[in-house]
Amino acid sequence: MTAMDHSSKLKKARKQRQVRTHTFNGRKYKIDIGDGHTDGLCDQYATGDSRYLVSMAAPHTRNELITIIHESLHASNWAETESVVDRVSDEIGRLLWRLGYKRP
Ligand SMILES: [Zn+2]
Repeated sequence: MTAMDHSSKLKKARKQRQVRTHTFNGRKYKIDIGDGHTDGLCDQYATGDSRYLVSMAAPHTRNELITIIHESLHASNWAETESVVDRVSDEIGRLLWRLGYKRP
């Protein structure tokens, strides 16, 4: 890899990480994407600017993509059961992965 390739790859990675907040169902969440694990969590009890959605890894793999979808579904609708959120996030994640939505 040339220095230019490496530089543009880093620039692209930084740009993808600039997502700091996202609104689900009218509620603003802080978005924190880490590295190294596939687990995530989403806070349903905080109010105002302290709500957060965390994914321990950027969606480099199908399971990491499914984790982010899973936590997003929680943020969008806390009334849904865990088993439904699990099923729907798996279905959507697998479809998006098959369609080519993969992070380099
Ligand atoms: Zn869950």
